[in-house]
Amino acid sequence: MANMSPKKQIMPSQDPAIRANNFKEVALGYTKEMAIEEANRCLHCKNMPCVSGCPVHINIPDFIQKIKEEKFEEAYDIISASSSLPAVCGRVCPQESQCECLCVRGKAIKVKSEAVAIGRLERFVADYHNNNCKELPKRVESNGHKVAIIGSGPSGLACAGELAKSGFDITIFEALHLAGGVLVYGIPEFRLPKDIVEKEVNNLKALGVTIKTNVVIGKTLTIDELFEDGFEAIYIASGAGLPKFMNIDGEGLNGVLSANEFLTRINLMKAYKADSSTPVIHAKKVIVVGGGNVAMDAARCAKRLGADVTIVYRRTRAELPARAEEVEHAMEEGINFIFLSNPVKINGDENANVKSITCIRMELGEADASGRRRPVEVLNSEYDIEADCVIMALGTSPNPLIKSTTEGLEVQKWGGILADEETGATSRKHIFAGGDAVTGAATVILAMGAGKKAAHAIKKDILGE
Ligand SMILES: Cc1cc2nc3c(=O)[nH]c(=O)nc-3n(C[C@H](O)[C@H](O)[C@H](O)COP(=O)(O)OP(=O)(O)OC[C@H]3O[C@@H](n4cnc5c(N)ncnc54)[C@H](O)[C@@H]3O)c2cc1C
Repeated sequence: MANMSPKKQIMPSQDPAIRANNFKEVALGYTKEMAIEEANRCLHCKNMPCVSGCPVHINIPDFIQKIKEEKFEEAYDIISASSSLPAVCGRVCPQESQCECLCVRGKAIKVKSEAVAIGRLERFVADYHNNNCKELPKRVESNGHKVAIIGSGPSGLACAGELAKSGFDITIFEALHLAGGVLVYGIPEFRLPKDIVEKEVNNLKALGVTIKTNVVIGKTLTIDELFEDGFEAIYIASGAGLPKFMNIDGEGLNGVLSANEFLTRINLMKAYKADSSTPVIHAKKVIVVGGGNVAMDAARCAKRLGADVTIVYRRTRAELPARAEEVEHAMEEGINFIFLSNPVKINGDENANVKSITCIRMELGEADASGRRRPVEVLNSEYDIEADCVIMALGTSPNPLIKSTTEGLEVQKWGGILADEETGATSRKHIFAGGDAVTGAATVILAMGAGKKAAHAIKKDILGE
């Protein structure tokens, strides 16, 4: 029966005061009853506007219909026909700016209504499947064609899944010791438990995908050597893992680090566990500079390690690029925010340890090319904030290693590989690229969408179809 409630089913979650001290998952997931209740809010619109907001085009109304009918495995089959990482996307996709922002329920004029909780329903279905179905996907007979993929983040995994389902022999080369890219080294356990990523990776292995870890393409092997080894096409999905700094005085002091390094120590190397041998800074007063998901993740990790944490952001709350839910969760957990402020220098003590940060106040001026109002410094408004650790979360760019070791591979001025938006084709024949390596830091689902598109182009390239 249709549920006309204007509100989504609330997501059960850990109490903020408790979760701010542990790394367990914050959101606990819908029960079966809640999922059905929420599914009944879907109007199953004929023109399916939500689907056009999904970069991998999941048939959203149909999978939700299956939830209404309590056919959860059938719902899973519909989602997994389009997405190789449903349990991941159900947790971290910015649905509010994709599928859910086009949902007709969220646009009802007379009553202020919320969109159907598509992401939460996707997560419910994927978790139901993972908890109840132990069967692994079946390997397709090989067509004898070999494709190499560089990087095991969402883009590489999506491309691998798509090609393996068509019988290609896929080898992923990954620089780190674990597969998953940002899903394992960046996004914290409390947002995306690592056993979920592992399950998704195991599904791909069952499809016949080989993953070779600890192989840095550009150092261990070059792209040209991969061709010599018999790979007929290559998909570069090496992400954008090179952190940016502000180039201000004091960035060399002890206690200043990039969010990438801090998060990698905590997530990939499990530095938060008592028995971990990975060192991590245990600071009392941490300043995180930035306003994206990375800043929220770094701040919430520092909080869980016992620090008093403040995020410094140069615009206002309205311009924060992080997902709304992550900002709310950070605020609930007691993270402080200072808006309209920008660091101008970091100050050290006699031992070259951070002791404070000098910021300048900002105001919003005219809109810039991105449409956001440009922050402008307020003259003579500098002030100091005490801190013993500063984490820079200012964005990342692609690592230049692959470009510098691959002749003829063209990149843009800022380092992103030049690739066709529809096919991922690069300036070199049989080399394709996608995800953050092409766009710069973006989202999981966009990286997956690029991986899928490139897989179709690679099939055509090799089979000539
Ligand atoms: C902390 C953090 C939080 C985020 N939160 C969200 C979120 O909530 N929602 C969202 O949608 N997006 C989020 N993002 C962005 C999202 O994770 C990325 O857009 C996405 O992971 C990009 O996927 P990718 O496959 O292109 O690259 P990556 O995930 O970066 O994977 C690239 C892989 O390539 C490997 N590699 C690099 N160079 C080489 C080489 N030379 N040889 C072999 N392997 C190599 C890397 O080790 C890595 O494993 C977040 C990012 C970060 C850093």
